[in-house]
Parts: sequence; C-alpha cells; structure tokens
Amino acid sequence: MKLTNFPRVRITHGPTPLEFMPRMTEALGGPNLYIKRDDCTGLGTGGNKTRKLEFLMADALEKGADTIITQGATQSNHARQTVAIAARMGMKCEILLENRTGFTEDAYKHSGNVFLDQLYGANVEEYPGGTDMNAAMAVVAEKLKARGQKPYVIPGGGSNALGALGYVVCALEMVDQFNNLGLRVDHVVHATGSAGTQAGLVVGLEGSRSLIPVLGIGVRAAKAAQELSVYNLAVKTAELLGVAGAVERDAVAANCDYVGDGYGLPTAGMVEAVTMMARLEGILLDPVYSGKGMAGLIDLCRKGFFKKGQNIVFLHTGGAVALYGYMHSFKDLKPT
Ligand SMILES: *Cc1c(COP(=O)(O)O)cnc(C)c1O
Repeated sequence: MKLTNFPRVRITHGPTPLEFMPRMTEALGGPNLYIKRDDCTGLGTGGNKTRKLEFLMADALEKGADTIITQGATQSNHARQTVAIAARMGMKCEILLENRTGFTEDAYKHSGNVFLDQLYGANVEEYPGGTDMNAAMAVVAEKLKARGQKPYVIPGGGSNALGALGYVVCALEMVDQFNNLGLRVDHVVHATGSAGTQAGLVVGLEGSRSLIPVLGIGVRAAKAAQELSVYNLAVKTAELLGVAGAVERDAVAANCDYVGDGYGLPTAGMVEAVTMMARLEGILLDPVYSGKGMAGLIDLCRKGFFKKGQNIVFLHTGGAVALYGYMHSFKDLKPT
C-alpha cells in the first residue's frame, strides 16, 4: 500500500494508546475488553476525524485553498475537528450544520461542539433537517469564489477515499501495537456512520492480511445500506492505494440494531453505555456514536456473541464534547 505517496499534515498525537478495560471486562463477564483511544488524537479535544483530516487538509493546502467548507449534524464532531485544524493552519472555515434531530434545547443548539466551532473561529450556519447539504455547500462555495476566496469542500464526516486513508494508517498502527504486546485480537468494534472509518480500517487490515475482523455498529442507516456504503468506499480507497481488489464484500460487516429511533436520538442502551464507561473506567463516550457503539458491544457480550477468552478491541472514535449538548438525556443520574 502506497500510503507515503500522499501528502499529509501531521496533527495526530500518536500512536494513540491501547488500554485494557479491567472493570468493564469484569462487569460483563465475557471477553477481555480493550480500548483504542482515538478520542486522544490531540487537537481540538480529539476524535476520529483528525486522522482523515491529515490527508484532506494536505490536499487542500496543495490545491491552494484558503477556506474550508464542510457540513454535519448540529453536534458534529467532524465539523469541530475541521475548524480546529483550519484554525491551526491559518485557514478560514465555513460550517453548515443540519438539525437532523429536530431538538430545540438551547444546549443542543449552542453548547458542546457548536460552541467550539465558534470559538475556533468558524462561520456557522444552521439548516433544517432534510436539507440537501451537498447542494448547500456548493452554493456557499460559489459565493466564496465570487468574493475571490479559494474554497475547498470536505464531504460530511471527511468520508471520501482520501479521508479514509487516515484509518488505513490507524489499522496499521493497531496491528503494530497488537504485535508488540503479543495480543491476539479476535475482533475490532466501533461506531460507523459516514463509513470512512470502517472503510479505512478494512482496507488496512485486509490489505496487510492481518485476518482481524471489524464490526461496525451503525448509528443511522439500516444494515444493507450501511454495509454497501462502507464496501463502496473501501473499494475506492483500495484503488487509490494501489491494492485494488484487497477487500472482499464479506469483509464488511455492520450491525445496525442499536440505532434506536434515528440518528442522534438517545436510546436507553446509549445512556447505560455512557454511564457504565464513565463509572467503571473513567472514560467519556459520546451520545451519538461511541455511546451507541458501546451499547452494541455490551449487548453482544451479554448475548454471548463475543465470548469469554476472546480479546475484543473497541475503537473509541471520540465525541465526548457532544455530551454537553445532550445533558437532557441524562436527567436521572444517581450516585453510585
Ligand atoms: C464521525 C464519528 C464516527 C463515525 O465515523 P465515520 O467515519 O463517519 O463512519 C464515530 N464516532 C464519532 C465520535 C464520530 O464523530
């Protein structure tokens, strides 16, 4: 895989830690649970978008851009990481936020990631749920060009083949860590949304013949649609890297049973997962992605899908800042 052929701005504090979770392992009584801390990627409170942005921002720089445009849901972690990196690189940033949940709480609309978007200096514009956000970004790009600016558009979640290279890097980094520890890993589990993270992981693990399966826990689409979007992006990513054909369709697996009523809408399982991880491991998950991803992992341990003796690695993709936008979902907390 020709990863070093691609320009990359080094932002990630890496390698991110790989840690054992003794109290979660004990509480669930099943497999040994490890966590890969991509919530600790560094800039702007961290998260998985940082690795993708290393390649995307290098491309923007090479193309002479002075302004970054991207989009996401109101509490988008991707938007917040993009603005932080744009600030550090001295670029302007236009953020388009779609209110996909329809929440009207002041905290949801203004706290958490939205506050940080503004603090890092972005121009933030709100759009109603259901807006064609790609079309909206194209309109903004034209407006900026007419003013003499040089915009660069990053797709939602930073999920194109170039962005997915960030998770090819992460896959190779994890394989290195597993080898150094002599750790035989049976499964990598993480929350999957716009597909770039899982596509990159699968290309990295399949392309290096690591034989470690990945399970994405869906947060939005149904299983068939989610697997197809991951697979299609994995195919493009493998082609970009010069290893076309590295990924078979059956290497892409998603479980979308933990979405609940829809994207960004809280579930009882998410609240339990976020609370358990905070109280047993002192680790903050997020309400939209890693909370639902961990809810899936917890349930799959309880059901015996993941078994005692196995070693499971949960990839923590970040996002805890969004908790401040979701305090209304954690009203019933009692002391331990
Ligand atoms: C974006 C995001 C994901 C999903 O990653 P994709 O590459 O979009 O599938 C998971 N967790 C968090 C915290 C995120 O912000």
